[in-house]
Amino acid sequence: MSTTKKDIRKLSQAEIEDYFKEIGEKSFRAKQVYEWLWKKNAHQFDDMTNISKALREQLGESFQIQPVEVDLLQKSNDGTIKNAVKLHDGNVVESVLIPTDSRTTACVSSQVGCSLDCTFCATAQLKRMRNLTAAEIVDQVVIIDEESKRYFNRPLSNIVFMGMGEPLLNYNEVISAIKKITLPEGLGMAPRRITVSTSGIPKMIEKLADEDLRVNLAVSLHSAREEVRNVIMPFSVKFPLTDLMDSLQYWYQQTGLRITFEYIVWGGVNDKKEDIDALVKFCRKIPSKVNIIEYNSIDDGIYKQASEEAVNNYIKALESNNIVVNVRRSRGKDIDAACGQLANKTGND
Ligand code: SAH
Repeated sequence: MSTTKKDIRKLSQAEIEDYFKEIGEKSFRAKQVYEWLWKKNAHQFDDMTNISKALREQLGESFQIQPVEVDLLQKSNDGTIKNAVKLHDGNVVESVLIPTDSRTTACVSSQVGCSLDCTFCATAQLKRMRNLTAAEIVDQVVIIDEESKRYFNRPLSNIVFMGMGEPLLNYNEVISAIKKITLPEGLGMAPRRITVSTSGIPKMIEKLADEDLRVNLAVSLHSAREEVRNVIMPFSVKFPLTDLMDSLQYWYQQTGLRITFEYIVWGGVNDKKEDIDALVKFCRKIPSKVNIIEYNSIDDGIYKQASEEAVNNYIKALESNNIVVNVRRSRGKDIDAACGQLANKTGND
């Protein structure tokens, strides 16, 4: 197999059209091939049954398709499924299917490893090896959609970019993947069912706000006190909370969409009144809601889930200020599939 052939899924429809023109083919073939690639998820040129055999062969001589494959599937006793997904170059990322009574959510990865340094996250301990391509992101969605149909008799309903990596640091491929997932010539899913979760990179949030994609934005806040956030998420020293707030206000101005803050409460870290007051004050500046997520231990010996009382204090303070707050129970903990636990551990090593 030649590795010099270009992956056809790196081409836009216009570029495929150019290729067909060059070889003297009708340009409408580009639309057909594009649909095979992005709507029908063909992984071989031979699957493209409305394309002549000769042309399929020619395509195969010029290009390759590099699909991902599931290396290992683990099922949690709460129904959550974790896939170790192998990329064509041998790198592995993880994607998770999270079923509830009313929905099936795909949690997808955007990078191999992560370049950020959140001290409570297992993925941060892996070096960032590379960005995923749009095709590798879409493949994860397609795999989870198939699993949802197979195991739960219903299609995938929601997608969250909360797997490995920082989606806004793989900006172009993430945007391209979102387009392929939402466009009618792709998977045709509703953008409001997609959430991009970011650790909070102001410039990139503003860029995303300008895209008119209509996807939701979640920000991993975890503290609205600069001095605390800078310790638990050291990279954020470069991005003061005032800059983050400015970018969120710009987001709201451009999209009219409320922001979700993800927030873990840890004992001794952010469980005091001043932490709660700071969060309330921050939230009041922008239409937002708060998802309190349970801490999933990564055996760091530093962080521990705060007491129920501390979490209740947060809930009371937020609610009395009319800020919507949800408490998210974690899922898939027994197979290391919960938030912050994705680190390519299989339980066998
Ligand atoms: N880089 C993106 C997306 C990946 S993390 C982001 O930071 O948003 C997805 C969510 O899991 C984030 O809210 C993150 O803060 C949270 N998370 C990380 N480690 C965790 C842990 N050990 N327990 C619970 N949630 C965690």
